[in-house]
Amino acid sequence: MDSAKSNDMQVYTGIAASPGIVVGRLRVIDRRRISVEEYDIGETGAGAEIDRLKAAIACTHDELERLKEQLQASTGEEHLFFIDTHLLILADTRLFSETAAHIETGLINAEGALRRTLHKYREFFAGISDPYLAERIIDVETVIEKILNNMVGKVHAPISSEMGQTIIAAHDITPADILQMDRGSIIGMVTEVGGRTSHTSILARAFELPSVVGVDGIADLLLDGAPVVLDGLSGRLVVNPDRDTFRDCLWRKQQYEYVERELLKIAPLPAETPDGQRILLKGNVEVPEEGMSVMRHGGEGIGLYRTEMLFMNRPEMPDEEEQYRAYSAMQRVVAPHPLTIRTLDVGGDKLLDGMIRVSEQNPALGMRSIRLALSMPDEFRKQLRAILRTSAAGPVRIMFPMIAGLEELRRAKALLREAMTDLDAAGHAFDRSIAVGIMIEIPSAVVIADLLAREADFFSVGTNDLIQYSLAMDRSNEHLAAMFQPLHPAVLRSLRRVVEAAHEAGIDACICGEMAGDPLYLPILLGLGFDELSMNASSIPRVKQVLRRCTRERAVEITKACFSFTVAAEVEAYLKDAMANHVAEGAD
Ligand code: PEP
Ligand code: MG
Repeated sequence: MDSAKSNDMQVYTGIAASPGIVVGRLRVIDRRRISVEEYDIGETGAGAEIDRLKAAIACTHDELERLKEQLQASTGEEHLFFIDTHLLILADTRLFSETAAHIETGLINAEGALRRTLHKYREFFAGISDPYLAERIIDVETVIEKILNNMVGKVHAPISSEMGQTIIAAHDITPADILQMDRGSIIGMVTEVGGRTSHTSILARAFELPSVVGVDGIADLLLDGAPVVLDGLSGRLVVNPDRDTFRDCLWRKQQYEYVERELLKIAPLPAETPDGQRILLKGNVEVPEEGMSVMRHGGEGIGLYRTEMLFMNRPEMPDEEEQYRAYSAMQRVVAPHPLTIRTLDVGGDKLLDGMIRVSEQNPALGMRSIRLALSMPDEFRKQLRAILRTSAAGPVRIMFPMIAGLEELRRAKALLREAMTDLDAAGHAFDRSIAVGIMIEIPSAVVIADLLAREADFFSVGTNDLIQYSLAMDRSNEHLAAMFQPLHPAVLRSLRRVVEAAHEAGIDACICGEMAGDPLYLPILLGLGFDELSMNASSIPRVKQVLRRCTRERAVEITKACFSFTVAAEVEAYLKDAMANHVAEGAD
């Protein structure tokens, strides 16, 4: 897609990935387009160009080290591994030797030579069949862009903006980009790829950064600097808004922000229905900042701590001490409420650098999550020891992801026992009766929920993956977003089966997938009898508001009616109507 710059209003629609409405200027980031000129340097120019290349690489090295130090102070140690990855790429001798060879044999300038090297890297990565590994070209592009910027005297910084009030448009933005970006001046983002439940979207919501994903071709348009309104509620990007549209957007923005402020007033109130049914509302977190946000929004603990961020964008696994420090930091933020720590869940759209080197035909069905953890028992035990040690300071629960059958659960629990023995030998304290739960996110786990319930202390349904695997639809695929249906009768029946199996065995049934955070689904989840819902921080007061207005009795009736429909669209229409007419009214 290509478009000439014009002042006409243009509206682009995508998927609403993180709520909020922001007004600012668009900054288009395209790492694939590095505009450098290639020119002849003559017979004698190679030495000087190689010196320039060396100097720019050294400069980039210093810049990355400085950035690491800065972020260490502001963000903390545990999320800086992407910088180590960039340092490793920079230290790769082939990067230098290939570029130097282009200079010497082609007698071209260093920038042009570097671009040729990048071209070769792109060809290499394009030949990797594993799409997730193939995507690591983004890291190489980032590093080469930094070197080029240093060559032409531009200091490369993380995604930032001098103009403030900037909305980033890009083909893709990685979780590392979000952690690293200047979140003071960047107020929103729009990308070509991604889905609502992709990890970048989850992180955007965690940082309350409005975002729209799945806007085809947006990074290729000539829109840099254009005034825009990004609507993360309806999934729209309005470029050059006309006066009426602008006024309308501002009005919606004010309304949204007013409602947000009002909702925060609900945060301290009990999560209880008018007829006295209590449900625990907890938060999902990946980074320490979110723990505080969960508390501020009235969460009663953490129902899902995704530990994989600690393992991503780095060449080596974090050791036990580093993990212990990270988990303890989270525990302190959440105390005295309970913290549910999920063990390593990587693969699929969450890639570990330097670790998974197997090329898989289908990573979503591949060596991921608990399967991967069980395949490296020493590393897994390290994580279990770190979690156990954290449990000495306050209530902590362990949760195993993507359990498909009892063998996996038993093997994971055996490793947990071994980890306990290790800690006893080392004289470390821990909670010996720590609760051990599992995520239900694979259809086989739903089918054998009764068997699993006998050997688990709690269930937590990962609806993102459960829907993905039940409907065979990639959760990150923007083209399938409309068909990714939480209200599909198969999903609803699965949820019912999970709650029934849990309660028959006397254990709690929780949900920590995105479905838990959408107030529309609250009557069904309440009616089905879930004990705990865990969601991103900003959803907690929204869900609590509906909970405080919907009696358990009414929720059971609504749920019964929902099960009488045969397709998701009918359930949704009915639910919306029920919410508008019977639940939404009333005040707190
Ligand atoms: C899920 O699958 O619903 C879930 C909560 O886990 P994640 O989104 O991290 O895969
Ligand atoms: Mg999952």
